[in-house]
Amino acid sequence: MRDLAGSLRWLSLNTATVREQWDLRQAVEGCVRHDIPGIAPWRDGVQALGPAKAGALLREHGLTVTGLCRAGMFPAADATGRQAAIDDNFRAIDEAAAIGAQCLVLLGGGLPQGSKDLVDARSQFRDGLAAVMPHARAAGVPLAIEPLHPMYALERACINTLAQANDLIDELGSDDPILGVAVDAYHVHWDPDLAAQIARSGPRILGFHVCDWLAPTRDMLLDRGMMGDGLIDLPHLRGLVEATGYDGLIEVEIFSKDDWWRRDPDDVLRIVAERYRTVV
Ligand code: ZN
Repeated sequence: MRDLAGSLRWLSLNTATVREQWDLRQAVEGCVRHDIPGIAPWRDGVQALGPAKAGALLREHGLTVTGLCRAGMFPAADATGRQAAIDDNFRAIDEAAAIGAQCLVLLGGGLPQGSKDLVDARSQFRDGLAAVMPHARAAGVPLAIEPLHPMYALERACINTLAQANDLIDELGSDDPILGVAVDAYHVHWDPDLAAQIARSGPRILGFHVCDWLAPTRDMLLDRGMMGDGLIDLPHLRGLVEATGYDGLIEVEIFSKDDWWRRDPDDVLRIVAERYRTVV
């Protein structure tokens, strides 16, 4: 395993971690101040500046862009909605290309309005993904399918396990490097098949995201913990990921409306760096 204690060279900040305090420019400057070499912006921040300007800003500051959050979410109630989702993914791919992102993160999306058919939502995700792959290939932007914890399956993300993501990739492209996965500790730590599925993912792993699972968790979406404050065995998980040969950055992504989003963002980044060195 890589020695994180000695260097921040593999650390990336997902801007969601400080989204209530900083815009994209402030997050970029914060990363530079704290010697954090990577960043993963969200689309609203990129769109606020304009993708070209955001790309120039990121390049000027020499940051590695580990991913753009987020697109996917293909399931919709009718053909018009499905096409709108595909068009939005085209735009997201173009934004990811403009900022030099190593991948575009895709979520499954939830059930369409009026539907209870999760099987259908999942097949809509597959169809949407197939529809945007040529655009991603032309733009040179790999698509990282990020399985989300099953508590989100109905409302937000119908892709919930690495097995599902790997099966989809096998079906749509197998060794096509335009498709991959993002492994997020918060979402996959519980999976009894985790070790086998991470090994199966191998070179498909385009991103590795960390935070922690708080006990108790007070909000299903916005109460993620700082690494070390919860129950996830992060070094174990990192060991599994790095055993595949993964040498990319480790992205810290914390949604925390009552705690980390209320703190001084410079304190947040200082603690992110310290925990990355000591508990990840
Ligand atoms: Zn994530």
